[in-house]
Amino acid sequence: MNYLKFWGVRGSYPAPFGSHMRIGGNTVCVELRVDDHILILDGGTGIIPLGNSLIKQDKIKDVTILLTHYHWDHISGLPFFVPVFIPGWKLNIYGPGNSQEEIKKRISGQMIDPYFPIEVETWLADINYLIAHKAEFEFGPFKVETFNVHHPGITLGYRITVHDKTIVYVSDHELGFLD
Ligand SMILES: [Zn+2]
Repeated sequence: MNYLKFWGVRGSYPAPFGSHMRIGGNTVCVELRVDDHILILDGGTGIIPLGNSLIKQDKIKDVTILLTHYHWDHISGLPFFVPVFIPGWKLNIYGPGNSQEEIKKRISGQMIDPYFPIEVETWLADINYLIAHKAEFEFGPFKVETFNVHHPGITLGYRITVHDKTIVYVSDHELGFLD
């Protein structure tokens, strides 16, 4: 079954308000599923219900996450993404950065004492931190191209091609600041 699902669409902070429930209150997270391959775009709080859904099945235990940048609304769900705590799961996390260590540091920084009770070392899944910046790469059926987005810090957009169909994921792009 192939589909694209928006698990979270909010920016800046979760919006658990009755007035926002028609399209949900979680911050950004999009799931692209093609056959038995799962690609997750951003790790906002929408990734929490996605993780809760994934652990109810045992067919797929290998997922790839593409992070556009490290603002809280794009990564704050990761500490609550249950598969990270389960041995046997494999997560490839791509993000902007010049080294794998830098990417790990940017993700784990939100979990260090005193901001969070447990640190990234408690993650028991097989986690790979991978450089997405200015790269072109493939995995499973996905061909991924990256490009820079106008937004504070290094922010990436992703162009994803699967079976001759393409989607482009661009978040937080500030068109108004362009010449
Ligand atoms: Zn941002």
